[in-house]
Amino acid sequence: MNREFTTRTTCPACKSETILHWTHGEIPYLGEVMYLTSKCQCGHRYTDVFSLTEKEPLRYEFHIESQSDLDVRVIRSSTGRIELPELGIIIDPGTASESFISNIEGLLKRVEKILQIFLQDEEKRECAKELLNQIDEIYKNGNLTVIIEDPTGNSAILSKNAKKIPLTSE
Ligand SMILES: [Zn+2]
Repeated sequence: MNREFTTRTTCPACKSETILHWTHGEIPYLGEVMYLTSKCQCGHRYTDVFSLTEKEPLRYEFHIESQSDLDVRVIRSSTGRIELPELGIIIDPGTASESFISNIEGLLKRVEKILQIFLQDEEKRECAKELLNQIDEIYKNGNLTVIIEDPTGNSAILSKNAKKIPLTSE
């Protein structure tokens, strides 16, 4: 298999033709994957990742117990749903939620960015402040559960301590 190739696609934002880059890679626990990236002249970016080996619907649960767990890698495909029960936060798949490969700290930074936008909103300000304080505490004493569900099996939490549960179709 070619490790890298490109195809043409239509930009969803400006409808002009743009180039989609495909890169083959390997990720522990997830196996062989393809990364998809494109960046249109209009500035629209698209990224996604999908596994070539595992296709079952899966749910991952991981409880952070120490600060070093913040380094555990998280892969979220465009169909992954993230839940942070202690914070009461659910990030559903959607147009605004792009896929990413990061670690748990990076995931929390993304959540903080969204909360910072909510600080501008008078109705949401108090709630956002409270959640930002809770996230500060998590950085200090690391107490958080991260759950990712993906009906395509393309998302993962890359730790041997992550619980991997097959999703039954409901
Ligand atoms: Zn475009």
